[in-house]
Amino acid sequence: MKDLKQALEARRQQHLYRQRRVIAGPQQPHARIDGQEVLSFCSNDYLGLANHPRVIQAFQQAANDYGVGSGAAHLVNGHSHVHHQLEEELAAFVGRPRALLFSTGYMANIGTVNALLGRGDHVFEDRLNHASLIDAGLISQASFQRYNHADLAALANRLKKAGDSGDKLIVADAVFSMDGDLAPLPQMAQLAQEHNSWLMVDDAHGFGVLGEHGQGSLEHFGLNLQQVPILIGTLGKAMGTAGAFVAGDEDLIEYLINEARIYISTTAMPPAVAEATRTSLQLVSEESWRRAHVLALVARFRSGAQQLGLNIMPSITPIQPLLVGEADTAISASEALLQQGILVSAIRPPTVPKATARLRITFSAAHSEEDVDRLLTVLESIHPMLNGALS
Ligand SMILES: *Cc1c(COP(=O)(O)O)cnc(C)c1O
Repeated sequence: MKDLKQALEARRQQHLYRQRRVIAGPQQPHARIDGQEVLSFCSNDYLGLANHPRVIQAFQQAANDYGVGSGAAHLVNGHSHVHHQLEEELAAFVGRPRALLFSTGYMANIGTVNALLGRGDHVFEDRLNHASLIDAGLISQASFQRYNHADLAALANRLKKAGDSGDKLIVADAVFSMDGDLAPLPQMAQLAQEHNSWLMVDDAHGFGVLGEHGQGSLEHFGLNLQQVPILIGTLGKAMGTAGAFVAGDEDLIEYLINEARIYISTTAMPPAVAEATRTSLQLVSEESWRRAHVLALVARFRSGAQQLGLNIMPSITPIQPLLVGEADTAISASEALLQQGILVSAIRPPTVPKATARLRITFSAAHSEEDVDRLLTVLESIHPMLNGALS
């Protein structure tokens, strides 16, 4: 048996030990964490809906009307009228025939890939894909083909090598969660078509944020159902609630209902979460200023950070990491920021490749311009620490 204490100690020595912070009160930029007042830039609540009065009201009302627990899986008797309405509204929002709710994005990914693939099939993944996508591919027992980040030639090569035996599925992370950059989805869709492969896009960080109507990365690129037959969206990020969905055509959704084991054998999310999400979705549709505002804050940050000579990465999304290099530098920088009341998390291996530790800064429509300016001022004060490491 492995010595757990020793394994933990080794982690600590390498500055890779992970610990949770305890937050008091709701998810919002000005928060109280471990007893300290902080201005936080680490949430995925991109549109500021996690603590929105109308979303809270919908949740409370639904708890009164439907109780708390859903009581059973969707296929037993847990599929509430509210879940059903949310599925229809999500499908309409992304312009697809059907949508299917899952309790988490991790589960949606595992359920979908595993319903579609098995031994003898092939799955193709970018090395920087989210852990849930990598796990989904590994669990499926399909032959697992990983290629270097955004390397289309490598993807094409692997598709060609896979030949004609077995089904093929390209699994794409639309917005890379630790980098903020977009996958080259139009080219990937083209390759999928050329090689008779499915394309599944996980738009956890684009859904609600990108595209004129907030439909996400597919709207941003102008990609349709034929080009991307399988779309995953999560609800715990821009929607400010919890859960996820898969959107596609009638056959895909009916197939998942029948074949996705993780869907079949798990309790449905509480109906009140679905009802709160219906309100979030309405706010996303009605209040386009939220998208405009968060993207304006991103532009303000990028221009300020550029003036300071900071190592920003090529990202148009609310995820704006600063590359610092070594894990211990990232930790020290994060601690120095916290001393000045700014909460930014240090992201280290194995979440990101070796020597690419970073501060993962994220913005929300709940931030103000003043918040961004304060972040920049504090970053300037720790500037030597940030850039020294890389040169
Ligand atoms: C957060 C995330 C998930 C997981 O979604 P949960 O609902 O939190 O389980 C899946 N894919 C990507 C790309 C993510 O960033």
